[in-house]
Amino acid sequence: MAILPIVTVPDRRLRVKCDPVKEVTDAHRRQLDDMLETMYDAPGVGLAAPQVGIMERMLVLDPAEKDEKPQPYKIINPVITWSSEELGSYNEGCLSIPEQYADIERPVAVKVKYLDETGKAHEIDADGFLATVIQHEIDHLDGVLFVDYLSSLRRNMLVKKAQKSQSSSSTNSTAAVTL
Ligand code: ZN
Repeated sequence: MAILPIVTVPDRRLRVKCDPVKEVTDAHRRQLDDMLETMYDAPGVGLAAPQVGIMERMLVLDPAEKDEKPQPYKIINPVITWSSEELGSYNEGCLSIPEQYADIERPVAVKVKYLDETGKAHEIDADGFLATVIQHEIDHLDGVLFVDYLSSLRRNMLVKKAQKSQSSSSTNSTAAVTL
């Protein structure tokens, strides 16, 4: 396994619609392992393939709390098949937009079908935190970032601050979760 470099704004790879995985291969399984290791190292609770420069529809996440045992998910070709009408707000961050956070409103529950690393099909009912994380990561596969839900003024400000935070090495003082 290997820790991969994380792509950050304004890298244009974060704005590309990724291709579906046609056939799940050993190479994909290796990439998913590397993505999980990179995510835990960052640390983050979710990571999508384009965030490490892999332009295919794959993501990893782990919604476990700190005192729970790890619950790693490896997700290929996810499709949201249902979204609740009810919306909820969560303070989101992103490994590709370092140290910036904003309250983002999304459906509180979704159903998602996907393939696991063996190519087997699954469908999960996600709600609460898991629903937020999975929607944030699927957005990445379509070139969408959480700041896109904000006004353009606010979006530009957060992206600029993120670029600055990379040149200065300030410590991560916030308790919010990075996806
Ligand atoms: Zn993100």
